[in-house]
Amino acid sequence: MTTPSRAVSVAVPVPALGCLSYLVPEHLAMPEVGARVLVPLGTRVLTGCVIARDATSDPSDLKPLIDLLDTTPLLPADVVKLALWVGDYYASGPGPAVAAAMPPKAWVVSERHAQITPAGRDALSGQLREGRRQVLDLLTDGGAHPVARLARAIAETQRGTETRQGGLYARLTALARDELITLSQPLKGSASAFKSVSVARATPHGLEMLERGQLQGARQLDALRLLSGRPSGVALTELVRQGISRDTVRRLALRGALTSTREVVERDPWFGGAQTLTDAAGARAPGDGAPTPELVLTDEQQRAVDSLGPDAGTGRFSVALLQGVTGSGKTEIYLTLARAAVARHRQALILVPEIALTPAVATRFRRAFGDRVAVQHSGLSDGARHDQWHRIRRGEIDVVVGTRSAVFAPLPAVGLIVVDEEHDGSYKQEESPRYHGRDVAVMRAKQVGALAVLGSATPALETYRHAEAGRYRRVVLTERVLSRPLPSVRIIDMREEFAEHGPDVVLSGALVEALDDRVTRGEQALILLNRRGYAASVFCRQCARSLECPNCSVSLTFHRRSDRARCHYCGYSRSRPERCPECTGAYLEQVGFGTERVEADIAERWPGARVARLDRDTVRRQGAAARLLNQFGAGELDVLVGTQMVAKGHDFPRVTLVGVISADVGLGVADFRAGERTFQLLTQVAGRAGRGTLPGEAIVQTLYPNHYSIRYACRQAYEPFFADEMEFRTAMHYPPEVALVSAVVRAPTFNQAMQDAAELAEGARARANRFTVLGPASAPLGRLRGQYRAQLLLKGPQRGEMRRALLATLEGRGKLKRRVVIDVDPLSML
Ligand code: ADP
Ligand code: ZN
Repeated sequence: MTTPSRAVSVAVPVPALGCLSYLVPEHLAMPEVGARVLVPLGTRVLTGCVIARDATSDPSDLKPLIDLLDTTPLLPADVVKLALWVGDYYASGPGPAVAAAMPPKAWVVSERHAQITPAGRDALSGQLREGRRQVLDLLTDGGAHPVARLARAIAETQRGTETRQGGLYARLTALARDELITLSQPLKGSASAFKSVSVARATPHGLEMLERGQLQGARQLDALRLLSGRPSGVALTELVRQGISRDTVRRLALRGALTSTREVVERDPWFGGAQTLTDAAGARAPGDGAPTPELVLTDEQQRAVDSLGPDAGTGRFSVALLQGVTGSGKTEIYLTLARAAVARHRQALILVPEIALTPAVATRFRRAFGDRVAVQHSGLSDGARHDQWHRIRRGEIDVVVGTRSAVFAPLPAVGLIVVDEEHDGSYKQEESPRYHGRDVAVMRAKQVGALAVLGSATPALETYRHAEAGRYRRVVLTERVLSRPLPSVRIIDMREEFAEHGPDVVLSGALVEALDDRVTRGEQALILLNRRGYAASVFCRQCARSLECPNCSVSLTFHRRSDRARCHYCGYSRSRPERCPECTGAYLEQVGFGTERVEADIAERWPGARVARLDRDTVRRQGAAARLLNQFGAGELDVLVGTQMVAKGHDFPRVTLVGVISADVGLGVADFRAGERTFQLLTQVAGRAGRGTLPGEAIVQTLYPNHYSIRYACRQAYEPFFADEMEFRTAMHYPPEVALVSAVVRAPTFNQAMQDAAELAEGARARANRFTVLGPASAPLGRLRGQYRAQLLLKGPQRGEMRRALLATLEGRGKLKRRVVIDVDPLSML
């Protein structure tokens, strides 16, 4: 008889590592799939997640794992399964994919610490090599110092001279061997990341004392009065804020007038602070005291619900494209479907592109479902996200509203997954694992048997193709709610404006007139220019070169407020030089313009108007975007200028004018999706106008008034755009006609990058059966953060083959593998 194997497969959050197998020592219970474990890896101790029992490895070859962190699985089994699919499909391996599914603070890591020994102290007074003295000097206080901090301190003192981390580690190892220091590896973080606070409550005895006037001192009296009105208790920190000292609390506790206990608190994103669980149970979101009256669905909305409702929460898998023009009331349909799913004891998962930019959706759900709604997005503090995640995991939540990573939310039985604005590029994660939230959502729906609804006015070509082929059901909303008209759109040919008024025109005559109207009438306007900064570049009239980023192959953008030229890729910035750094020419010109310039021009022309700007420069700080949008929504601003951020799903009923400054900004990009992106952006931004009782107008300025993306966007005509665009993609063999896998190789020199990419190409070609390999060629962004980049493109009917060919070529070549980025279904071709 064979005993069952005590080996498990574990995913660790280390790139380019497969699953690792470990032995579960006899003194530990066998962990379940989804539980976290501590494992040794080289000299480190890492948190891993058990992804399977391993029956194949020979246990005598395996290292034992160190500890179990969870007695019940942290990740539900179906989420582990989904993550493994992601790791495979997107070629990231299981580690990064499982990490993406984990809540914040789940990874307990160990960090090396160094501490001086008595012998080390003695050694300092004798002869020592300089390198050793340097390390010991940093340790003289006798404490245990993180090695990373030592490395930083040493790099600091040697600024300018080359330092190698490897040198430091070798030195530390040698010092430890000679017993001058000890190296240790304490754990950082802990297995539980719940926040707890001390909460004080009045006792019956205390209340009695209060009533009988037996309390001395104003402070004690104040404290007990406060507590008597709050039977669920008051956090100690709040008492202190109210001027009641910890000393007073201690005295009252000694007299038996109050008790103080530690309680887990929920960091609640709706309140921006922490509250105890007891508070949370009865609480409601701000502004939702009165439930909003339920809207009567329009005929089209009702038909959509009739068609989709029967599938929500039934355990059957299906996918629907909900294609509804801007303002057709898609959110209301999501709500009704979510109710249907919840009524069948299943949960709903609502994905939105960026919560900061679409807070309205979350609020709408919160009104309908109260505190059975959780939010999950990266704008939350880690603490709040962690607590929300665990509420979901405990089964206290019916609806999750979140961004891309929420696709992994640990709901027990998902019955409905909505992907709102499914065409939006922010669903694609541009770092490992490079997954597309929409496509993972569809896979999750398939694995658990749910209805997936992909909503958009401008579906991604991929999605519409699936609908056309009958793989997705297509449900259409052709009209805005309450028969509101779509905005009328005017195209302004900027070549004519330039001919008449010179090349410095930012606002065309027509746009000036229209803005003037709005400002006088007190209506609102949105102005889009998808380029931030003040001037697009700084150009030398003598040598005709622009100021370039020293690290990336792009020119620097000039920002006026900070008076600096910046790289939008690596963050490099420099002051504006007096003379051209290349030829010392004295005539430096600012060419082109961005949102900062548009904002300045408008503010100057209409001094009385309240103008603000929404782009990555103005919303760096957390919550800034939501604040700006709230202000605009509340009518505290007249004109909002911004990048694509102003185009996203907003519903501002008082906007009657949308202006697009340079509609063609995105068309010059070396990317086959340039036309599709431009069409989507223009259709979406025009769709922000006329959503209330007043009709809307859009004015689109362009140098290419006849470009098909621009023409079709102005008519909000999706189908003809799709037909033309598909023709182009088919002729050029681009997605969705074929599947695409990109591989970018980074190296310190161009030749090295090209050479490595050539080897990779050769290996892939040798394994190619039904796909072609293009390249290597310099990537469109040939240099990024100081590294040269060479690119390969694989095209074929089957992603699996292409992915396997690349991975097989990289097998056993760890160093090269770390410099290669494989992107399956890449969205950005740069
Ligand atoms: P979409 O996402 O399709 O662009 P929204 O869901 O944002 O549209 O809805 C647009 C506006 O119409 C919102 O202000 C919403 O409250 C309103 N609305 C939706 N459905 C109805 C309805 N049946 N009756 C009246 N107003 C509605
Ligand atoms: Zn740069």
